[in-house]
Amino acid sequence: MKEVSVCLTFDFDAMSVWIGTFHARSPSALSRGEFGAVGALRLLTLLRERRLPSTWFVPGHTAEAFPHLVEAIVAEGHELAHHGYFHDRPRDADAEAADFDRASAVLTRIGGVAPVGYRSPAAGLMPSTLQCLLDRGFLYDSSMMGNDFSPYYCRIGDAAPKDGPYVWGRETSLVELPFTWGLDDFPIFEYFQTRGGLNPGLAAPSQVYEIWAGDFDYLYDRLGRGVYILTMHPQAIGRGHRLLMLERLLDHLSSREGVTFKTMRTVALEFREAHPPTIGK
Ligand SMILES: [Zn+2]
Repeated sequence: MKEVSVCLTFDFDAMSVWIGTFHARSPSALSRGEFGAVGALRLLTLLRERRLPSTWFVPGHTAEAFPHLVEAIVAEGHELAHHGYFHDRPRDADAEAADFDRASAVLTRIGGVAPVGYRSPAAGLMPSTLQCLLDRGFLYDSSMMGNDFSPYYCRIGDAAPKDGPYVWGRETSLVELPFTWGLDDFPIFEYFQTRGGLNPGLAAPSQVYEIWAGDFDYLYDRLGRGVYILTMHPQAIGRGHRLLMLERLLDHLSSREGVTFKTMRTVALEFREAHPPTIGK
């Protein structure tokens, strides 16, 4: 029997990704992030119409800019999760902890619930990040790519010396719900300058549908069990032609027997229940 969980996740970066990751200050660049609020409203409507749960990774910076949208996300039953305060890579572990706790306080104040899940801005996990999550009792991370359709437990203490073999760290109780750039709308849809050149983006939705549906079909048809995690950004997926593609994809996913839409928190809890962590034993 097929048993596939689908997690629709939205990284509601808004202006923070342009300020932090791209170091932009121009009103044009910032307005691209502002459009995320338009996209977020469209997505909330789509999710409401289809009665689908989802998970929203919201930087503290976004929550303070659009508190009414964070309140709406929570009020409609979606999961609110942690995505740092500024969408930036902190310079060291102390700066990371300060940014982290600032974001937690903002999300808890505005959303009313303390987040238990984390996704690193721009998949830029630092060596100290996992310990930061463990120290704060987090349930899961979603920033790593060590698997695709199977959750696993994060390790700490891995080392990658250039003059010796890879060193495996020890497994922790922190669940990893894997991320992948291939199931992320940002690089394939967004046109932006990088330090080394240009990301052309602006792919046709049909191309993205082929990639996203292809991964789902492999999971469903060949493996039969697992979790399919889509990472979307309201400022990217919220454009009309892309939303129509998402609707088509949701139709496809929903038409398969044994497919259930869940929040990331639910999937992480189910994984822990089915595979209790060995740490401490
Ligand atoms: Zn982000």
